[in-house]
Amino acid sequence: MAIRRIVERGDPLLERVCRPVTEFNARLHTLLDDMAETLSEAGGVGLAAPQVGVLRRVCIVEDSEGELIELINPEIVSTEGEQTGLEGCLSIPGRYGIVTRPYKVRVRAQDREGAFFEVEDEDLTARCFCHEIEHLDGHLYTEHCDHLLSDEEIERYIKEHPEQFEEDE
Ligand code: ZN
Repeated sequence: MAIRRIVERGDPLLERVCRPVTEFNARLHTLLDDMAETLSEAGGVGLAAPQVGVLRRVCIVEDSEGELIELINPEIVSTEGEQTGLEGCLSIPGRYGIVTRPYKVRVRAQDREGAFFEVEDEDLTARCFCHEIEHLDGHLYTEHCDHLLSDEEIERYIKEHPEQFEEDE
């Protein structure tokens, strides 16, 4: 496994539409393993292949239990409700915006061997599904917020919404 460099906003690689994965081979498995290591090192909850410079429809999301979900060729099949909260991106380090997303999201994807499965989650993990899958079409969360927050705005937001920042047991 190896840690890969995360490309940052401004890099045209983040604006491209990624191609589907057609071969579920050792190369894909290495990419997934490297992405897991890169994500864990960066301390994030989700990472998409274009963020490490690979223009394929692959992303990984860590759920609220710390379980890593590998999504190959993912598609959102249904959504429910709404949530509004802080969102950040490893490609835009240190910055946050307020983004409204569905509260519950169901995704159909393939696993690393090519088998189809569906996964449903809510809250932060649902937000993460939407965020990572958008990366595969060249979109960033900044398109959903009118501005990125200043440090004071972030502080104020955290003070006003403490319930969103409680650690899960
Ligand atoms: Zn991102």
